[in-house]
Amino acid sequence: MARFDLSGRVAAITGGNGGIGLGMARGLAEAGARIVILGRNAAKAEKALAALRALGTEADFIAADITGAKACKTGIEAAAARFGRLDILVNNAGTSVRKMPETLTPEEWHLVLDTNLTSTFHCCNAAYPALCAAGGGKIINIGSMMSIFGAPYAAPYAASKGGVVQLTRALATAWAKDNIQVNAVLPGWIDTELTQGARAQVAGLHERVLARTPAGRWGQPDDMAGIAVFLAAPASDFVTGTAIPVDGGYSVS
Ligand code: NDP
Repeated sequence: MARFDLSGRVAAITGGNGGIGLGMARGLAEAGARIVILGRNAAKAEKALAALRALGTEADFIAADITGAKACKTGIEAAAARFGRLDILVNNAGTSVRKMPETLTPEEWHLVLDTNLTSTFHCCNAAYPALCAAGGGKIINIGSMMSIFGAPYAAPYAASKGGVVQLTRALATAWAKDNIQVNAVLPGWIDTELTQGARAQVAGLHERVLARTPAGRWGQPDDMAGIAVFLAAPASDFVTGTAIPVDGGYSVS
């Protein structure tokens, strides 16, 4: 269907080598987009690229640590050069340091803010010229339930993910004139390396998530594919500045 067709489009996805990023990449690839993954772990990326190429699309990897303005600029410019254009940017790379706020070091605070929020700003700015050159584009930023709720062990994570939503709104208003739609996705609890770590560290988390999620299960990375396609496709051309939960009902229960 043309409204959801991404043939000829190129998507750059930070942290697209695993977890939610790869789930979204799979959706975009199935809709016809070529994929450029940015991340640090090349071995993980090789497996992801094989999975994406098996879907019949072109895919490539650019090694980049996105905690730094220069690395974001270099990485995104390389991504735009890889297939000669850039239409879609997914700011998905993220991390967490789970500690009570009074025990956090300044370095831990900055690691989480730099990875989750500041990189999103820098990657968006780095992508802006290429998106304009393509006649417009789509930016999908990954927030969290922590964009809405708090948790004792999540001060920098919640601050960063709340910031991602407000950054999304600001960029949506700034770049609507350029036909660039900027939206955020707020995943519920999704089974990935990140949350396997959380389950190991936070007692009772697994059971609490199951009890609170109306769908009665953890999400899987592939549950994120559909929203990625919608927000990357012409179907969402009048949708901008939103923050859409994909959470099995967690945020309304
Ligand atoms: P994963 O740990 O599986 O994926 C995180 C990805 O981010 C990895 O692929 C990693 O790549 C990349 N990454 C982390 N730091 C950097 C860095 N400095 N430079 C480049 N890449 C980096 O976790 P998820 O898939 O769960 O998380 C993806 C996003 O979704 C994050 O923003 C997370 O906050 C968010 N999220 C996750 C939820 C969940 O329940 N899982 C819920 C809500 C939000 P590499 O291995 O190469 O470093």
